[in-house]
Amino acid sequence: MIRVVCPGSFDPVTNGHMDIITRAARLHDEVIVAVLRNVAKSSLFTADERVGMLREVTKDYANVRVAKFDGLIVDFCRAHDVSAIVKGLRAVSDFDYEMQMAQMNYAQAGVETLFMTTNPLYAFLSSSLVKEFASYGGDVASLVPEPVLRRLTERLARD
Ligand code: ADP
Repeated sequence: MIRVVCPGSFDPVTNGHMDIITRAARLHDEVIVAVLRNVAKSSLFTADERVGMLREVTKDYANVRVAKFDGLIVDFCRAHDVSAIVKGLRAVSDFDYEMQMAQMNYAQAGVETLFMTTNPLYAFLSSSLVKEFASYGGDVASLVPEPVLRRLTERLARD
């Protein structure tokens, strides 16, 4: 049984995240999408809202579940019997930091990290870019799943 984790803030989940989650689910027995609660970082959506959106958009994936986490991802991996962390690599700019993290996690806890190259369609895509673009009235319909678009539009209209 190979269980992997896709960690992130997912504030909110984008089509780039969905691409990595979908591909990871095809390759492994089980995928846990782990949502970082991260109280220090201000987010547009609460951790529960982010979890709710992820559950909605992954409801048809039989081997994907969604959980929240605080603290170190390696502790989450130990507690949930996770074999590896799966990450998407977008650009060279992601590489240095991700490699450091992966080496640290392996050195400290023996947890492996698997990198998947981003789908070129989504190489430019990040949650922060989606939020920024949408906040100025930009059309992000092709960048996020439909339920996320709806909630994002509501939230930005309210704020
Ligand atoms: P971001 O704000 O950059 O989207 P997250 O913490 O929510 O940040 O992202 C979680 C992880 O999802 C990232 O570490 C990366 O592995 C992956 N990811 C995010 N966006 C993409 C994308 N467009 N293509 C591939 N992987 C991505």
